[in-house]
Amino acid sequence: MAGRILIVDDVATNRIVLKVKLVSACYDVLQAQDGHDALKIAEREQPDLILLDVMMPGLDGIGTCKMLRDNPATTNIPIIMVTALDDSESRIQALEAGADDFMSKPIDELTLLARVRSLLRARETDEELKLREGTCRALGFAEPVAEFTMPSRVALIADCQGTAIKWKSDLSTHLGGVIDIIGRDAALNWSDDRTPPDVFVISGNLSRPDEGLRLLSELRSRPLTRYASVVMVLDRAARQQAIIALDLGANDLIVEDFSPREFALRIKTQAKRKQQADRLRNVVRDSLRLAAIDSLTGLYNRRYALSHLNHIAKRTVGTDRTFAVMMLDIDRFKAVNDSYGHPVGDSVLAEVATRLQANLRGVDLVARHGGEEFLVAMPDTDLAEARIAAERLRRIVKETPIQTADGRQVSVTISIGVAMGAGSGPDACTDIDTLIHKADAALYSSKNEGRNLVTFTPAA
Ligand code: GH3
Ligand code: MG
Ligand code: MG
Repeated sequence: MAGRILIVDDVATNRIVLKVKLVSACYDVLQAQDGHDALKIAEREQPDLILLDVMMPGLDGIGTCKMLRDNPATTNIPIIMVTALDDSESRIQALEAGADDFMSKPIDELTLLARVRSLLRARETDEELKLREGTCRALGFAEPVAEFTMPSRVALIADCQGTAIKWKSDLSTHLGGVIDIIGRDAALNWSDDRTPPDVFVISGNLSRPDEGLRLLSELRSRPLTRYASVVMVLDRAARQQAIIALDLGANDLIVEDFSPREFALRIKTQAKRKQQADRLRNVVRDSLRLAAIDSLTGLYNRRYALSHLNHIAKRTVGTDRTFAVMMLDIDRFKAVNDSYGHPVGDSVLAEVATRLQANLRGVDLVARHGGEEFLVAMPDTDLAEARIAAERLRRIVKETPIQTADGRQVSVTISIGVAMGAGSGPDACTDIDTLIHKADAALYSSKNEGRNLVTFTPAA
């Protein structure tokens, strides 16, 4: 389905004209004949976009728009205001009420459809992001995302220095944050250590006609600037450029002879959206990390380790490769907690984790298997190498007592059990459950034989 669009207009003919245009572009159309009707239908039907007439008897378009924005159920639905008026004051009123755009009658069909496509695309990304963030939150990884707005960072790329300076002074009176005038090349060569702006404002024509459109499309394709908002500034006559800009991913357009207030308002809206999307993206990224990492030790958790081990095992099947699986457990750790307290126990755990990590190869994986137990997976490792590694780990924990925050020294040892995985031959074994079970049994032997020991299974 292309999308569902609600048309709100008190004049039936106007609704029909719009409906014909939208239906021929394969959109589903809903209709409302006044503001109150629109509020009800929008809440019930959850359209993907609303085309809202400004002048209606009773509750007018501006009032309806504000109420749609105030209702959580409809607050994110994109709104295009449609009106016979086209003065700066009406546009500002509409934008301040929360409309995404403003179009004057008679409506140009191609421009309308380009605008609709652009808003629907943005809404889809937005919903997808919210859905993922919601999932992370349901899984308990994420806190609700705050709605606060940070000072915005805006970069201006104009056709000439004079225009850029005028834009900057126009914006400075209405917009806080940082406003930089930059060149096209600077926009393209964004280095890793500089945070890209929230919003790029770009003239349609730069040193060459349509150069602004080419720049827009380049920015969209680069990882560092992909998520920045882009507002294009176009000549009033540049209808074709407007359509192309929207299809290339411009977030908003503004047509020359705009008032500074409208300019600032549009940029502010885009900066706020961009920051909100960034926050959601960060939540999702951090949650994925949290899902794999143990917070006390910073090591991978058991779930991640098992999936990684499976991966190692799978690619070993049928080859002459071997790998090692180790289970490690801190000896008499309960006594550490009992004599020093739980917080010291925690710091001992973290220090042991750090030592294990520092004394293995980059390709080896150390994970916290649970409690005071660790799992080590060593790909492409033979028995002799595994023995050397296990002995080294045992030694580096025992050799140096662990310094606590209050200056005391805690000595601990670890016991280790090792099982070898092999892709072929008489000892072939790539079943993870079996290998972990064997390593566990070997660890149990180490404990029984007196602790601070390495045991292999089968006894080698
Ligand atoms: P063994 O040599 O047989 O392994 O003796 P142990 O005392 O280490 O083994 P036991 O399983 O009896 O006790 C494990 C202890 O580890 C009990 C538990 O409170 C402690 N422990 C597990 N997770 C944590 C943790 O995250 N922090 C702290 N401080 N202690 C933990
Ligand atoms: Mg223990
Ligand atoms: Mg234990």
